[in-house]
Amino acid sequence: MPGSDDDRSRARAQLQATLGLLRTLDAGREVALFVEQRRPKVTVSARLGEFGWWALTVGMLNTIFIMPSVLDLAQAEAARLYAHEFGHLLFGKDRPVECTIDSIKQEYAAESLAARVWVEMNPGAAPEEYERQAGWILDQPVEAAYQAIRQWGPYYAALPEKQPRWYQVGQYWPAVEYVLRTVLGVR
Ligand SMILES: [Zn+2]
Repeated sequence: MPGSDDDRSRARAQLQATLGLLRTLDAGREVALFVEQRRPKVTVSARLGEFGWWALTVGMLNTIFIMPSVLDLAQAEAARLYAHEFGHLLFGKDRPVECTIDSIKQEYAAESLAARVWVEMNPGAAPEEYERQAGWILDQPVEAAYQAIRQWGPYYAALPEKQPRWYQVGQYWPAVEYVLRTVLGVR
């Protein structure tokens, strides 16, 4: 699974550049400072593509897995993508056990953060573009946005709406194990 040394250094450079950009944004400052403290690892994994994912954050491993193609994104696109992944780390910061498990609520928090970052980076966006990138989540009732997130794919359709409590984590463990082993090849 590990990428080449070249991939690793490109991923590190992209992470630093993204944190530098987010620090300059009102919507990104808090999360950038948090991530700088937490120092997650970015690991390049082509396996994600088989599942249609560009990136996946596993808080328990303090790792953000990315597709190799993420390394080629323009800086603004990368910032939006990482803002979502950083949102997962920030959401789970106080409750690492419970927040190891994803939920619609957590996806909503991560994507709202990414949408606010996008809005700040694109102040002159056309109305349709604004709607596609951010309006659908920032300007809609929470329930409507939850419904939209469920339509991202089968993984999201099956997510619990709220974070499970720590004593419920066991019942989600098969799903966590599936992601770690099948998607990421972590043994
Ligand atoms: Zn997510």
